[in-house]
Order: sequence, then C-alpha cells, then structure tokens
Amino acid sequence: MTVPPITFADLGGLHAQQEVELVEAATRVLAKGHYVLGPEVEAFEHEWAAFCEAPYAVGVANGLEALVLGLQVCGIGAGDDVIVPANTYIATFLAISQIGARPIPVEPLEGTCNLDPALVERAITPRTRALMPVHLYGLPADMDPLLAIARRHGLKVVEDAAQCHGARYHGRRIGSHGDIVAWSFYPTKNLGAAGEAGAITTADPTLAEAVRVRRNYGSKQRYVCEVTGRNSRLDELQAALLRVKLRRLETWNARRAELAARYEPVVGAAGLRRQELPAGFQTAHHLFTVRTAHRAHLQAHLLAAAVPSIVHYPIPPHLQGAYRDLRFPVGSFPITERIHDTILSLPLHPTLSD
Ligand SMILES: *Cc1c(COP(=O)(O)O)cnc(C)c1O
Repeated sequence: MTVPPITFADLGGLHAQQEVELVEAATRVLAKGHYVLGPEVEAFEHEWAAFCEAPYAVGVANGLEALVLGLQVCGIGAGDDVIVPANTYIATFLAISQIGARPIPVEPLEGTCNLDPALVERAITPRTRALMPVHLYGLPADMDPLLAIARRHGLKVVEDAAQCHGARYHGRRIGSHGDIVAWSFYPTKNLGAAGEAGAITTADPTLAEAVRVRRNYGSKQRYVCEVTGRNSRLDELQAALLRVKLRRLETWNARRAELAARYEPVVGAAGLRRQELPAGFQTAHHLFTVRTAHRAHLQAHLLAAAVPSIVHYPIPPHLQGAYRDLRFPVGSFPITERIHDTILSLPLHPTLSD
C-alpha cells in the first residue's frame, strides 16, 4: 500500500467529501440568477449566527472587510488609536490603518501567544478608542480581563476571529463577547469558501444593521445613500457553498483535535514548546504550532521526510516595510519577535491520516 503524501492543507480532499452537495448548491444558485446578497446569504447569516451562539451575523466580502466595517460601525476613525496584539497577521493592522486610525501594538503572553491583558491597561491613552484582540492559531484571547478593561475605559472591542471558528471561551463560543467579532472564510480557514468571504457576528442589533448598510454602499434603500459605505457584499455562490461546508465544521474541528492529541506527546518528548491552553479555553486547532530555537534545522529535517511546514509568521507587523512610519526598531516587542523567530506550523487538516 502506498502512503499518500503529507500536504499542509487539502482543500480538494475536503471538496471530495461533499462533492454532490456542493455541485447541487452551486447549480441551484447559477440557475436562479440571483448572485449577490440574496436568500443564500440570508440563510447563511442565520446559520453562522447560530453556530457562533451569537444573535446576529452579517456576511461581507472577506475577513479584512469584516474588521474594517467592525471598526467603522463602532465609531472608530481618523485620529483614533486601536490596541492590537503585536503578534498577529498583518491584516489586523491593515484594518486599523485603512480607516485612518493608528495601530498600537501590545505584547502577547509568551505562553498563549495572545494579547497580554496586564500590558493592555498600561498602553491606554486618551486617544485609545478600541481593543482588537486576535484569537491566534485557533486559541481564544483572554476575553474576561480584556472586556473588563474596555468597560473601565469606555473602549469598543472588535475581535479578529479569522482563525478560531468553533473555539470556546469558558464554555461559550467565540462570536459575541466583544462588540463586533470579525470572521474570514478564506479557503484555508477552518470554514473556508471557494474564494473570498467574511462575516461579522454581534449581540448588538444596531451594530448588525449598521454593517448591513455599510457593506452595500451605505444604502438601506436602493439609490438612497446614508453613509459613505463600501462594496463589501457576499456572493450567493459563496454563501451557498459555505452553508454546505458549515454542516461539516464540527466534524472537521473534531478531527483536527484528534490529530493535535496525536502530536502532543511526540512534540512534548522532543522538547518543543506548544501554545499553552489555559483552563476553560477551547481552541479551534486552526494551526498546530511548535516553537524551537532550531527551527531551520527542524524544518529541513521534516522536509527530508516529505513533511511540509510553514512559519506563521516570519515578519511581525511592526517590522514590515508598510509600518516603517510607526518607527519600531528591531527589539521593540521582544516576546513577539521571539515567537516569530521560533514558531513553526506542522500539517494539521481534517483529511490528514493518523
Ligand atoms: C485570514 C486572516 C485575516 C484576513 O482574512 P481575509 O479573508 O484573508 O481578508 C485577518 N486576520 C487574521 C488573524 C487572519 O488569519
């Protein structure tokens, strides 16, 4: 028997599991001739809200748009400061920059790689208007202390949930802890479209309605424009495919958890550091990361055994050329930089064999 090659992701394999249903859904949309913001989007919004245990969901064009719209409807704009984990994917920073606000990076906890609430409070100034926690690699950020800080200082909370579909924090799904929760359905996320898609979830009907208006040029009524909105609409085709895939998300996440449990003792015995999982936190296992000072050697060793691995991420946002104006020299965020220098993601996806 030949062993199939190990891949980092296997989107074709996931498609094969649901081929008949996916083709049926796509055919239904194509035949109907309603392609943007219609009944499939509306149905997906209800189903996604239910999955997230959140009262409202609104579909948008992609994850970055979800973050931008989330900040905008919270009233954040030019001249405002937004606290963001220094250790994140660039899109979190870009969302803040795109609305003319300034990202204020704060170090993560070394163990969880997520925003350190103790350091957040110290970074607050009179210009600070919002916190943007990221649930990185699938693990929720420590929301209770972050929400308490936000309440104390009158700050909005916009969560970047692009990597944590299905994660739980003290029993409750990520989806409505903060004011707005931003989701991406980029193909490689735990729930991925066959192209671009995103959504916000929230417990606030006013914010949900505001995103609905802003995603469609700022119009509630056709040709009547109330605010300077965007074109951030979700396609019917993507929504129809996401509805099919959503039915498998729990199964796929459970398989990710099973595979992670198989890795744990091995990487532990090898002395590799893992992302800590605090009591009461449930990760969505988006990425299985390990940390080692000998990353290049480990990566080469794995490659020699035909095991692909990826660095998430090689350059922290504050050291990217795009953010040279923030003037953060190397060493400004040592924990973040240490994580970026030592982290490595091993293959973990639902069709991976034992
Ligand atoms: C994927 C991702 C985004 C952006 O989502 P897109 O749909 O690609 O725009 C934002 N933040 C994080 C942490 C992500 O992983």
